[in-house]
Amino acid sequence: MDTVALPFLNPAADSLEGVGREPTAEALLRRARQRRQIQGMVGISYVIDGFLLLIYAQVGAIPAIIGPAFAGCGLLTVAGNIALSESGFTERFKDHYFVTPQVLVSMTIMLAFAYVAPEVGVMFLCTLFVVFNFSSLRSTPMQTAIVWTILALGLAALFLLTDKPISIPHGTYMERFATMSVFTLGIGRSMFLGIFSNSLRQSLYAKSLALKEAYRRIEELAELDELTGSLNRRCILRMLEEEISRAHRTGSCCSIALIDLDWFKRINDTYGHPTGDEVLRTFGITVFANIRNIDRFGRFGGEEFLLVLPDTPHGTAARILDRLRAIIADLDWSAFSPGMRVTISAGIATLRPDETPDAILARADRALYRAKAQGRNGIVSA
Ligand code: GH3
Ligand code: MG
Ligand code: MG
Repeated sequence: MDTVALPFLNPAADSLEGVGREPTAEALLRRARQRRQIQGMVGISYVIDGFLLLIYAQVGAIPAIIGPAFAGCGLLTVAGNIALSESGFTERFKDHYFVTPQVLVSMTIMLAFAYVAPEVGVMFLCTLFVVFNFSSLRSTPMQTAIVWTILALGLAALFLLTDKPISIPHGTYMERFATMSVFTLGIGRSMFLGIFSNSLRQSLYAKSLALKEAYRRIEELAELDELTGSLNRRCILRMLEEEISRAHRTGSCCSIALIDLDWFKRINDTYGHPTGDEVLRTFGITVFANIRNIDRFGRFGGEEFLLVLPDTPHGTAARILDRLRAIIADLDWSAFSPGMRVTISAGIATLRPDETPDAILARADRALYRAKAQGRNGIVSA
């Protein structure tokens, strides 16, 4: 049921299928199968009504020909629709289910039979509800309004331009049984359409929630560095730009620090690349655990990280960085390998008036270079 009707209820699925490319052969086959299944349901509906009309004919309420003629007309339109669908003709249209033309033909049949057999006219009018219900599942508001207008004109012609005694037989017990069946089966078909559309809407809703969650996850992954879980380079640079514009706008101060792990190549060479990865990860987690939630921390590249400290004057930034340096240096790294030591160096810069992100980064980088030159495991201010 899911594969049959989801696209039927979701015109957007069709348009998406067609965005920028032709539907695949597989999609075309699937669509043709869905159209066949829908035509099958329409055919069954006509046959049910044909049987009810036979009951009325049996008790002499209408001519015997009405039932077979009605079912015949219906099945003929079903056959025509299947032929148009199988030949690929309907694929030329945006609505390849051909709902509006089909509904207009069905409405014409109902109104014509209400005219020809007004003794059971109410039955055809009752079926119009099912037809209109079916149409509104798929049509746009505009199409629904057009279909309703044409239907209203047809009904006006039937009721106001003719004096046909549109009614439904209820004299004999058998007639009452047939009339009861007309209403219960008519309402039953509407109920089926309602349950059908409801369950599919729920399924669409569940799918849209799952899509939203997947989209959120993609966004999250696009912002995070896979190894350390800190922000990736693109994201931390964007945040640096945002914080700098904000600081310039509000006149607040902003400091940054470029942090680099000391002798990291040696760590890799001595303990292996996987251990080097673990060290990077542990370093990232440790920094995260020791910064404020207004601070932004991201991987700038390799074993170099950028820490953005909004609303932070130079002295505070130096204290924060020296504290981080001490925490990393004092961490018990021997869990990774006996005797392992890890230290960091950092260059700090505090934003100057009108300074650009590139300029402050360059100053922080020069300060980092000096920290390395001064023997590492140290913090230098630009
Ligand atoms: P310095 O103290 O001067 O910064 O020395 P260093 O050895 O840390 O600096 P260098 O730039 O010579 O080496 C950086 C090393 O970091 C080289 C590279 O293989 C390693 N590295 C970069 N990214 C990763 C990573 O994702 N995982 C691991 N394990 N190593 C990495
Ligand atoms: Mg290094
Ligand atoms: Mg480096």
